[in-house]
Order: sequence, then C-alpha cells, then structure tokens
Amino acid sequence: MFSKILIANRGEIAVRIIRACNDLHIKSVAIYSRIDKESMHVKMASESHEVSADPLKAYLDGDAIIEVALSCGAEAIHPGYGFLSENAEFAKKVSEAGLVWIGPDSSVIARMGDKKAARDLMQKNGIPIVPGTDIINNCSIQEIKAMANKIGYPVILKASNGGGGKGIRVVRSDHEIEENLNACKREAMAFFKNDDVFMEKYIENPKHIEFQIIGDNYGNIIHLLERDCSIQRRHQKLVEIAPSPTMSLDLRRRMGSVAVAAAKAAKYTNAGTIEFLVDDLGRFYFMEMNTRIQVEHGITEEITGFDLIGRQIRCAAGEILDLNQSEVLHQGYAIEVRINAEDVANDFKPNPGKITTYYPALGPFVRIDSAVYKDYTIPPNYDSMIAKLIVRASSYDLAVNKLIRALEEFTIRGIKTTIPFLLNIAKDKDFRKGNYDTLYLESKMQELMPNETINKDDIAAAIAAAIAIKAGY
Ligand code: ADP
Ligand code: ADP
Ligand code: MG
Repeated sequence: MFSKILIANRGEIAVRIIRACNDLHIKSVAIYSRIDKESMHVKMASESHEVSADPLKAYLDGDAIIEVALSCGAEAIHPGYGFLSENAEFAKKVSEAGLVWIGPDSSVIARMGDKKAARDLMQKNGIPIVPGTDIINNCSIQEIKAMANKIGYPVILKASNGGGGKGIRVVRSDHEIEENLNACKREAMAFFKNDDVFMEKYIENPKHIEFQIIGDNYGNIIHLLERDCSIQRRHQKLVEIAPSPTMSLDLRRRMGSVAVAAAKAAKYTNAGTIEFLVDDLGRFYFMEMNTRIQVEHGITEEITGFDLIGRQIRCAAGEILDLNQSEVLHQGYAIEVRINAEDVANDFKPNPGKITTYYPALGPFVRIDSAVYKDYTIPPNYDSMIAKLIVRASSYDLAVNKLIRALEEFTIRGIKTTIPFLLNIAKDKDFRKGNYDTLYLESKMQELMPNETINKDDIAAAIAAAIAIKAGY
C-alpha cells in the first residue's frame, strides 16, 4: 500500500480523496493555486504545496505537479474529476516518472476519451451503439445533410473529445445543420483544442442510465449497479438517483452485463463509468465511457456500501478485487443533488462570493460532500458546484421525502444557490413518480423556477432587524 498520495485537484473531490487517504492511513499531499490558499483541501491534507499563482495553471500544469509529487516523496497521484483526470498524456507522464496513476492505463484513457474511437471499439465488440457517422470535418455540407437524412432527423452533433455537456448540438432539419456544425466546432476547439465532430441519431426522450464499473489489475471487473442521471440542464447533470427507480430487474441484469463486457473490451482497470441512453421502449445504447471517478459516485457508495475512492486507491496499489458480481446488492435508494453557487433566475449565472451563513443538513442518512464553510469566499475561477447533498432511504418515495427535508434544512447565505430550485424539483409530482427523461428540466423550467427571490429566512431576519431598530437596540 502507498504511504503518500498527491491529489491533483481541488474542491469537494480533493476533500473526499483526502478523507479516503486518512481512512487508509495514507498521507495526503494537496496542491493549490494562490487564490485557493484558504481552501479546505489545503487545510485538511497532511501537507500542501502552491504550484502556481495562476488559478488554473496550478491544477493543469502536469509537469509542475509531477515535480511536487517527486520532491515530497508521494508514490501515487489521484486526479479526481475534471482538470487533468482524462488527460492521457499526463497519465503517461505520471507513470513514466515512476509514480502510480490512480486510474486506468493512459492508453485506455486515450481510446475512451475519444468518443468516436470508443464507439468503434464497442461496435466491434457487439455492444449496441446509437446509429451514427465517422468524423465529418472533411465532408461537404451537402454530404453531411445527406448523412443526416439517412440517419433521420433529429440528429446530434458531438465533439469527439467533448465532456461536461460541451460541444453538443441537436439539429432538427437541413437548414439548421451548417450553423450548428460551426458552433459545435468552435466550442470544441475552445474547450478541448480539437474540433473533430461526428453525428449520431438523436434519441427522443431518453433516460441517461450509467453503470459504475470497478476493475483490479488482474482482469476482474464488476459493476456496482446503475445511476439515473436524466435530470440535466444543458446536457449537464443536476440530480442523480441510484438505483434507477423505474428499471426492471431484467433490464438491469442485461445492461449490467453489457457494461461489464464494454469495460472488458476496453481492458479497463480501476473505477469508470459506462453511460447509456435508454429509449421509451427499453432499448439501450452505449453513449460513452468516463475513465475517472464520477461526480455522482457517492450515491453508488451509499446504496452498495462500497467505498469507491478507497477501492480506487487499493486497486491501484495492486489489491485483488475480492467481490463477485452476485455479492453486489443495493440497500434502498440514494439521491444526489448538485448545489451550485448560481443565480437561477438569471439564467443560472455563477454567483461566487462570501458565504456568510452555513448550516449543512444533518441527521440519519444525509451526507454532504463539500469544501465550503462559513466565511469562505468562493473564487470566480472554478466550477460553480459547491456541495453535493446525498440522501438515502429504504424506498425511492422515502428518499424523496428525505431530500425535501434536507434541502429545507440546508442554509447557505451570502451567495445565491440552486437550493430553492432543487427543492422545487424534489417537490414535483413527476419527480416523485420517477417520471423523468433528459428533457424533464427543459420542459418544466417555468414551473420549477422559484418564484420568491427572497427566502423566508431573509424575511425573518429583516423583521428581527426592524424590531431591533424600533426597540432601540
Ligand atoms: P460527471 O458525470 O462526472 O458528473 P459531467 O458530465 O458533469 O461528469 O462532467 C464531465 C467532466 O467535465 C467532469 O470531470 C467535470 O469536472 C468537467 N466539467 C464540468 N463542467 C464543466 C465545464 N463547465 N467546463 C469544463 N469542464 C467541466
Ligand atoms: P459529455 O461527454 O458531455 O457527458 P455525452 O455524450 O455523455 O457527453 O452526452 C451528454 C448528454 O447529452 C447525455 O446525457 C444526453 O442527455 C445527451 N445526449 C447525448 N447523446 C445523445 C443522443 N444520441 N440522443 C439523445 N441525447 C443525447
Ligand atoms: Mg457523458
């Protein structure tokens, strides 16, 4: 087992990994940018090193990060999600420097990080994929229109190197193609420095169902059931549920074995996720594989009792996976909501700033993965997700009750958050019925918008202040 691990990340996932290190009696090394000096991961790690004054370079300068790892005697690097986690070149450099990469081999990251290459591999191995094309960058608009008509509108244009919902455009007719293709390429170049685009059939009203995979270094691979991540805004997940409340046992069994077959085809090791689309007839299609820990891994941990980050570390250290597929059972249902520092009424614009009040929800089967605290100032330079609230209960219905209770308890002041919006989702009757697909949020946006911009706590505080002034305090 390792004695020291460097965590090449920040925020809640860095904190989560530090906790896993502490659980395993491993020393943790945090890295940070100047602006992150007061961050929780910096305070919690066994030791911390500033990599750069620049907010992004500190987490993206692979060579500098490897240098820190080597000079402080770390034996392994955990990349978390985002930043360098899916950068095959970085993973390779880590291994070449004699450090252990806590994740799959760099060649697997390279292959699966290219959505088109991943589709090809899956197709070759008999895994169902959505009908689609090769890379279309060298085709004329006429040719592309012909392909779209052959597949049948609507179609979806996708950046082959895309992620985080970026570089995706749905196209419904010939005359929308050119404009969307250009926009897709521009976005792909800006975010991923590669504008390769391909086209897929757009599956109408699908569910996004993904299977958690874990594999050791000796070819043993199992899945840890599924998550329903259909509740998305602009192709980005906001609410995740495990297991899917509407999935039949038969479909779970079939999709689970296809997910394991897909991971085996990729020669996968460590934790990863196979994402599928499921249509309203129960047909399912491979969409992509994420070669890293996922934001929403916590709900899988809660229902299976399986410590995913701990296992990532243990697998990377060479431990054998001592669990059979038949031993993986779920206890109840877990729901995660992503709490973002955003102004919902203002098109979900990021709303960084100082947190003046912070009371996390507590009580049985309520978990918060976060890296913020009272008086912490959220910098504007990073993702707006500030906390993940995870609840678990014996049934889906009771988990929804608990979610409402926990969201009502969770108090953050000083900045605007998505809590009131998430609460409206939690109280929505279709949400309780499990009635959602990937268009759920879009179709219900008006209905789910919080109508009161001032929450009742602020009103109570204003009344208290007015009384105090009147009383002459
Ligand atoms: P997950 O399934 O892990 O939640 P997402 O699809 O939400 O993944 O995000 C994919 C990856 O992209 C994650 O590693 C996440 O950190 C990163 N990401 C999320 N939002 C953005 C963004 N706005 N720009 C760039 N990357 C992002
Ligand atoms: P990313 O790497 O950004 O996560 P994905 O390929 O996983 O990209 O797609 C993100 C989301 O876009 C999916 O969860 C789904 O909602 C939607 N999507 C992607 N492909 C299709 C498709 N062929 N048909 C319908 N929706 C799709
Ligand atoms: Mg995806």
